[in-house]
Amino acid sequence: MRSSSPAVGIDLGTTYSVVACLDASGRPETLVNTEGDRLTPSVVLFDVEEVVVGKEALKAVVTEGEHVAMCAKRDVGQPVYHKAIAGKQYPPEVLEAWILNKLRRDATVQLGPFRQAVVTVPAYFDEVRRKATQDAGYMAALEVIDIINEPTAAAVAYGYQKGLLAKRTTDKRPLRLLVYDLGGGTFDVTVVEVRQRELIALATDGDVQLGGYDWDQRLVALAAEELAGQHGIDPREDSTTVGRLWFQCEEAKRMLSGRDKATIAHDHHGRITRIELTRSRFEEATADLVDRTRFTVSQTLAAAKLQWNQIDHLLLVGGSTRMPMIRNMLRELSGQEPDASVAADEAVAHGAALYAAQLLGHGSNDVGRFTIRNVNSHSLGVVGMDRITRQPRNGIVIPRNTPIPVTARRVFHTQKENQKSILVKVVEGESASADACTPIGQCRVAPLPAGLPARSPVEVRFHYKPNGRLRVRVQLPNTSTTNDAVFNRASGLAQEHLDGWRRFISEQETGPRA
Ligand code: ADP
Ligand code: MG
Repeated sequence: MRSSSPAVGIDLGTTYSVVACLDASGRPETLVNTEGDRLTPSVVLFDVEEVVVGKEALKAVVTEGEHVAMCAKRDVGQPVYHKAIAGKQYPPEVLEAWILNKLRRDATVQLGPFRQAVVTVPAYFDEVRRKATQDAGYMAALEVIDIINEPTAAAVAYGYQKGLLAKRTTDKRPLRLLVYDLGGGTFDVTVVEVRQRELIALATDGDVQLGGYDWDQRLVALAAEELAGQHGIDPREDSTTVGRLWFQCEEAKRMLSGRDKATIAHDHHGRITRIELTRSRFEEATADLVDRTRFTVSQTLAAAKLQWNQIDHLLLVGGSTRMPMIRNMLRELSGQEPDASVAADEAVAHGAALYAAQLLGHGSNDVGRFTIRNVNSHSLGVVGMDRITRQPRNGIVIPRNTPIPVTARRVFHTQKENQKSILVKVVEGESASADACTPIGQCRVAPLPAGLPARSPVEVRFHYKPNGRLRVRVQLPNTSTTNDAVFNRASGLAQEHLDGWRRFISEQETGPRA
């Protein structure tokens, strides 16, 4: 057993999660869960008397679909998961907490009890989703020492593997990576520059509603069409059939990454019907999805003010990059061969573990201190009233793709004499209309010193921390009044609920059923 806290990195994926830790020589290794697998399905089953996470829960999609929560990560930031589970509504971060709890418990078998871990988030996660992810860690009895962007973590793993983070790097030339991460439920692109053990994100973009799961759904539609047309069967008539069909289609999709054809045996009331799916039909049916990612990649490159010949490696991350259509598109778009040298499913967790070691101050023989610099993925603004239209407007304070940490200030004015407080509403998003943006929260600056004349300036400072979390401070110019404004979040669970869930979750078993 280790004496100091182990350096643990957790890739909390939409469809699969991975835990990694540095071994005695400082090399990242993936831990196996109690089922003996390196990947744990991010699926939660609320069984009658227990909560089951992982492979067993995934299997239950077919038989007890209404008790199963999948892809909760897609809903993180919303107040509740998109469907009730066995009649109950859950906040998505609570579902994420169940998953983290299982990962923590399984890792404990190998590492002994530990609390501290780095958890990964898509670069494209906004502030609300980042906060919710940290809360999930808290409810799973973890101490989230930091969150790290998934593409950056992948770049760290790549840098480690290629010796770019070594204490004595000889190569001084900056290396530019474009990380293309297409997982099960989210898509993320980031351009990262690695220079002298410094990782600098230049631009980031993505889509939290796009991933392998959408490819699955297209295959399900193809199969359903086939069944309806050729055999007069509507497989969508009951949820068990839909669940089973999705299962089979997901498997067929993997098959189609290596072969031109895959067959599904559909069982309809005991009558077996075989459906043949071809890669070309699959590719036709999903061309628009591939296109969406192509568009985002081009935009990200433009935001980084770079051309393809300035990109040294195009890194493939995420299970869905195994699909030949993705590699073909990227090859054609970039004119270069995509680099699949990092383990598509494990690199993110490995990078997180390397980062955890750094934060915990673990020395390693060959890895020097590396630094990470990010950009914010969404513009941050304050709500103001448009004088002409009288509509709430988003006054952008920190534009997207600004290097962080960054502090921006904005001066507000009191409206009337002896005003007692000012209300500042903070939103995230690109739209000029505040209603189309994500509310982050609001802070009431109060009490203002007595006797302020009308139109007195009040300076609000927004400080974006390196991990994308926000702090708001308020200062009255020419006075010593400065304080952390009480920032009331627009979403998220109250501390007492977090504590309640933390107690409840830690009391439950989340292992496989006996
Ligand atoms: P996430 O991080 O979003 O959970 P992963 O990176 O683990 O996702 O990728 C999971 C996705 O990759 C799933 O949608 C899975 O179906 C898909 N996938 C895994 N292997 C293959 C393959 N060989 N061909 C096509 N898709 C695959
Ligand atoms: Mg992932």
